[in-house]
Amino acid sequence: MKKLKRPATLFAVITCLLIAGSLAACGGGLQDADTETPPAPGEDAVTPSPTPEPAATASPSPTPTPEPEVELFRYTGVVEHIFFHEVIAWPELAFDGDSGQKGYDDNMVTVSEYNKILQSLHRNNFILVDLNDVWSEYTNEDGARRMRKNTLMLPEGKKPLVISFDDLSFYKYMAGDGFMEKYIIGDDGEIWASGIDPNGNPIISQDHAAITLLDKFVRENPGFSLGGAKGCIALTGYEGILGYRTHTDRGNDTQEFKLNRMQEIARVRPVVQRLKETGWYFATHSFGHINLETASLEKVKDDANRWLNEVGSLVGETKIFIYPFGTRLDGNDVWDTGPALRFYHELGFRIFASVGREPFTRIKPDIAAVMLDRMNCDGITLRNRRERFLRFYDAREVFDPSRPSGGGYTVQW
Ligand SMILES: [Zn+2]
Repeated sequence: MKKLKRPATLFAVITCLLIAGSLAACGGGLQDADTETPPAPGEDAVTPSPTPEPAATASPSPTPTPEPEVELFRYTGVVEHIFFHEVIAWPELAFDGDSGQKGYDDNMVTVSEYNKILQSLHRNNFILVDLNDVWSEYTNEDGARRMRKNTLMLPEGKKPLVISFDDLSFYKYMAGDGFMEKYIIGDDGEIWASGIDPNGNPIISQDHAAITLLDKFVRENPGFSLGGAKGCIALTGYEGILGYRTHTDRGNDTQEFKLNRMQEIARVRPVVQRLKETGWYFATHSFGHINLETASLEKVKDDANRWLNEVGSLVGETKIFIYPFGTRLDGNDVWDTGPALRFYHELGFRIFASVGREPFTRIKPDIAAVMLDRMNCDGITLRNRRERFLRFYDAREVFDPSRPSGGGYTVQW
């Protein structure tokens, strides 16, 4: 085995997000807003503060700091790919028996589960890599452009892992259901999340949302990330991004709406920039969370252009498409190459990810594209697919007892 020595300070990222595929609609579905705001006893309430406290440990720095040299080894095996949605900060609000409860139970994990999963992944020697570093485009002997898998250089014994996060938009239907409300830049220049705690008080925290919790975990466990790689953020656009209402509304072109939109765009730009500086990268998840299998070609194209205009303009270029609902372009783009896939290919997309039970990949022989499946980390698999996920974590140890039980809420272990 060939060895290479170089500083472990390469910059990297990660990719992808999606849905419970055939099992359930992505939590980002167009559900009705549940505006109910049940009060709850302050559980692990964090002291609300208008200005975030500085992070307990050193923040990631855009300038590489000297690190000990780590011996790297060639890795050509499987690259695992799992995904999450936004995490549930306050289970008592998500699981309060209202109409949103089942969707949250199916598609989300709680903060407690998420933290345990990250610890287990690290303990099991996984290391975060950037999906963009896993695949590359090249010209073959016939002069055609195709995709191929790269050889990764990893510390000894490490197994590469991509984590993607779907629908990090803080959709309106989630308001009051136990989630934070948006990602912000704190006074320290780092990413924080803001929201309202169960007592109705404003809260700014790094302990209640998916992005900031992973940032914190990597700060405390730098060996969990290759060169600072974090995760792939897959965004729709129909209710803006990251908690900011940056979208247009075809039924509302009032000056007030436009002004608010411009303000939201100005607010989200520094958040996007800091995320990109700290190992995060972006993917499309379609603009409207549309079902690609049933949408007309015309609709797919309109949706794609709207995403590029309203989200791509904020997050920059991406080659990654994380399919909403796990449904594929043209119905079956793994084995066929239809007009919708060709359209996305012309837009520059190369990596197309759905949902599956294994880290399936297929490099297309006729076009520069690679088809992937991702495994869904959520309530459905925690309850019913413990065996399949044991190489990552044990649902029995992770499962949050504050999830609903009885009345159809069961576990298969
Ligand atoms: Zn989704």
